[in-house]
Amino acid sequence: MGLKINLYRRFAGLGAAALLGGAQFIAAHTLIAVNDPSRQQAQATTVQTTILEAVFITPTPTPMPFTVQVPFEGKPRLTSYFDHNTPNYRRNGQVVIYTGDSSFDCDPYCYDGHSGLDYGMVVGTPLFAAANGTVIKAMQLSTGYGIHVVVKHDNNYHTLYGHMSEISVRVGQTVKAGDIIGSSGNTGNSSGPHLHFGIYRTTNSSSVPNETYATDPFGWRNKTTPDPLINFPTTGKGTAATCLWRSDDKDFYHCNDVLIEDSGLQAAVLTGAWLQSPVGLDGSHYISNAENIEDAAHADWAVVITQSGLYQIDAFIPSRNATTRQAKYRIYTGNNIWQEVLLDQLPYNDEWVSLGNYELPVGNSHVWLSANTGEPANKTRVAADAIRFRRLGAASLPKPSPSITPTAIITPSVTPTAKATITPTATPTITRLNLPLLINPVQP
Ligand SMILES: [Zn+2]
Repeated sequence: MGLKINLYRRFAGLGAAALLGGAQFIAAHTLIAVNDPSRQQAQATTVQTTILEAVFITPTPTPMPFTVQVPFEGKPRLTSYFDHNTPNYRRNGQVVIYTGDSSFDCDPYCYDGHSGLDYGMVVGTPLFAAANGTVIKAMQLSTGYGIHVVVKHDNNYHTLYGHMSEISVRVGQTVKAGDIIGSSGNTGNSSGPHLHFGIYRTTNSSSVPNETYATDPFGWRNKTTPDPLINFPTTGKGTAATCLWRSDDKDFYHCNDVLIEDSGLQAAVLTGAWLQSPVGLDGSHYISNAENIEDAAHADWAVVITQSGLYQIDAFIPSRNATTRQAKYRIYTGNNIWQEVLLDQLPYNDEWVSLGNYELPVGNSHVWLSANTGEPANKTRVAADAIRFRRLGAASLPKPSPSITPTAIITPSVTPTAKATITPTATPTITRLNLPLLINPVQP
């Protein structure tokens, strides 16, 4: 009863805008009442109560899901993923990453039991808070995480920034996402300059996080097997990871993205002569001579679409070797249905370039790239790096016709710059298969 009185008081104190909102509610409810004339009178009374409750009992906001943004600028290489299989720094002989890919031994490319993400970066790189929160630790240790900061966030999450060179916040200080907290370094138990970024989910918001509560901001992407994190610390007692990356377009991690790399287990299949080069997203890309040989060499990025809709498809173009002016991509939007896109790769330097938006049905989809560009042999090179599928929402485009549509030419708006020539690191291969887990070649 007290609650109701309070609600009416608040109603009395509200301005015209809120009343207008109330009027809109009345209109909607009246329509329902008109559809059922026999109960119209009774409902007319109910409507008034409903309006007040609808408008005033709901102000308790549902908490927004917790998200993080990358705690640095640029695209440093992710040198070690979170190990979903017992992230306690002890060796159990198996590393499982967020895609479900696993390996019995990935040393030295990743760590068995790693409970965070490592990003290789030069000492002194500015670090930022990954989300709003309060600094609860600002420690200078010579071992372990070395100089490190822990920030406590909403929803009982904590973030840890390890092996720093200096700290520019103090315990008790509130920080906003993106506020500088210090600089990266190589302190503590660290084998090279890098940031160790850890995320913890605790049941007790005041406790200092420990590895028992470690989780993975990439979540768990594998649809066929359960997240082994559910068995940490005790069988069946853990919590499956959920994707925590904030989903703003400017962020290069996005919870709705499916990323297919050029190497690793969840990667493109390359057929014909391709050479690996040690630059690009996650530290490599493949190159081929652009030759006028019908589709002799091609790359194919396959993906299983589990939710139909409108997808933005992007290609990552590395800073080197991508010198073709007309890379030929085919975007498959169904069985043997594709649209061809010609992309001038030359102007781009380590950036995502849109191949367009496409309506994709549930099932297999893929992006295909030919090394046959029609340009003179040995003059230009085609680069194959990662392809990204980003779901924009429900499909709203007209269905493509079931034949090849006219070729679109994506013309870049930036001035072309010269690219360095190749430094191949591998001999040409025929169909590349069974690559090791490691997605991230070691950074010296
Ligand atoms: Zn680490």
